[in-house]
Amino acid sequence: MSAPEPGRERPGPLRLRAASRSDVGKVRTHNEDGFLVTSTLCLVADGLGGHAGGEVASSTAIELVGAAFTADPTFKGLVRGYDVANTAILERPASELHLVGMATTLCALAAVEDGLLIVNVGDSRAYELVGGELIQVTHDDSVVHQAVLAGRLTAEAARVHPQRNLVTAALGFSREVSARAYHPDPDATRMLLCTDGLTEEVSDAQIAEILLAHVDPGAAADALVAAALDAGGSDNVTVVVADPEPVETT
Ligand code: MG
Repeated sequence: MSAPEPGRERPGPLRLRAASRSDVGKVRTHNEDGFLVTSTLCLVADGLGGHAGGEVASSTAIELVGAAFTADPTFKGLVRGYDVANTAILERPASELHLVGMATTLCALAAVEDGLLIVNVGDSRAYELVGGELIQVTHDDSVVHQAVLAGRLTAEAARVHPQRNLVTAALGFSREVSARAYHPDPDATRMLLCTDGLTEEVSDAQIAEILLAHVDPGAAADALVAAALDAGGSDNVTVVVADPEPVETT
């Protein structure tokens, strides 16, 4: 994976004031999503491959990427975490048959030396709020998103397409990690990471309204999960709302 194009200058180092919420939803019996929130790293993961496998894959990714970034809080450290987690998820099922085929999406937001960085694989998403407008930063690694990019499907048709949950890349799919890296807009005032349990149920317009209505990240996260549950809660739903702030230097 190559580093993203350098972002525009941001004044000084940043930290993240972030809150996370995760809910099993109204239909599933297990929550296979995972998340992590620190002042420099936020993660969301959506495990795939059946109850046991999904939970193991998402928690493995969260743990190993968190540890790799703690040891080396740079773009390189984050990418190393993705590689280590991918190998661990691929190799574990050899001894545990019920875990065969497990995989996980992983969306990371990190505060590194030169600003904010996002690394993503799968169909969990990162959004940014810029001047009150909600913008999706990440591409979905999904069959329908590729069809939209190729002009074979409209965005509206993709939202209800029967194959909209088919992901084309995830940790645990193959030896090569096909994650992508992005720099958010330096003028972004708020970031959102979420699994598809949110975006399946709640439109981008509603998400924007909620993020703008609540100053506190925890209150915004509560309201996002509540909206997904009100709309049906058909999947596990996990959100991280993170406000970048300058680190006080004296
Ligand atoms: Mg999901």
